[in-house]
Amino acid sequence: MLPATPGQLRRLCHGAFWLVGCLVALLANAAEAPDPGANALKNNPNTITNTNTNTNTNTNNNNNTNLSTNLNTTCNIACSTHCNNSGPMVAIIIDDMGHHLQRGREALALPGRLTFAVIPFSAHSRPLARAAQAGGKEVMLHAPMSTLNNTPLGRNGLTAELSREEFLRNLRLALDDVPQAEGVNNHMGSDLTQRRQQMAWLMQELRWRDLYFVDSRTSDRTVAATVAGEFNVPNLSRQVFLDNDTNADAIAERFDVLVNRAKREGLGIAIGHPYRATINYLKRALPELQAQGIRTVYVSEAIEFLEDGANASDCAVADGAQPRAEANDEVEDGPTENTDQPASGTSANRTAPPAADQHAAQAR
Ligand SMILES: [Zn+2]
Repeated sequence: MLPATPGQLRRLCHGAFWLVGCLVALLANAAEAPDPGANALKNNPNTITNTNTNTNTNTNNNNNTNLSTNLNTTCNIACSTHCNNSGPMVAIIIDDMGHHLQRGREALALPGRLTFAVIPFSAHSRPLARAAQAGGKEVMLHAPMSTLNNTPLGRNGLTAELSREEFLRNLRLALDDVPQAEGVNNHMGSDLTQRRQQMAWLMQELRWRDLYFVDSRTSDRTVAATVAGEFNVPNLSRQVFLDNDTNADAIAERFDVLVNRAKREGLGIAIGHPYRATINYLKRALPELQAQGIRTVYVSEAIEFLEDGANASDCAVADGAQPRAEANDEVEDGPTENTDQPASGTSANRTAPPAADQHAAQAR
């Protein structure tokens, strides 16, 4: 299947780079003559083995570095999203995909370049992830992570009690369950995202798989994005939760915060859920964004844009605008979307962090 999104194209480019790099290294190595170890072999076999190993490694690294430069240039041209005076961007992630089939389908039908975060092993995760990809949408793994309130995580959740082997096993099973994923964000995780060791295990795996990470920021003490940076995992952090309060006016207020942030900084990053109220609001609001000159972009596009060294503020249109007082959004997102009831006590306007799992508890 041809790559459908910029993130898939980016990963394809990286895969092609490694393949070409390996082939060039093999050809260069084969063409190397005479064998520098041929004479020494007679005297000291161990030395020869080491010499050849080092030579091959250096050849590989040099070739790969050069190819990386060339191919990354090609990929950046092909894959990235540039401002080009085309206005501010918003990256909107719809979390918790998989519990509810119909609501999930309605979310997938929303206009624009939205990214869908799928909960692994959930009842409808596989058909929804496939439908998202088939519809040209971007897919992420919404990885369940432990909370300060010990909220049940479902199958194969990531917790601090797991050994490294158990942690990686659960993570890999989850990634395998959503093979369309181009990145990962945390489902809940107010506990785990504070833990450097577990975040390091996570980021090492994501780096190896060339996946990005979005810190949902369900705790104001999260170290996830910091550790992602240490492992060179492309990452973003959620700025706005759209629907901690599912009252229509509250969603509209949070959407305004997102839009103003995009206008002011060039890029706004939000998370919503496939709640009835959120879907209804986005159906109306997303088409209006275009009229305001604001683009929706996939998470991978926002990351590509920033990785190119571009400054998102170049896309801003409200230089000097006064920042709105922004609410404290640090809150767990719900493990299910089975309610349209306003989650009282989770108003986005509070000033103190909420009980971490209040929303999750009410959503069950
Ligand atoms: Zn979630």
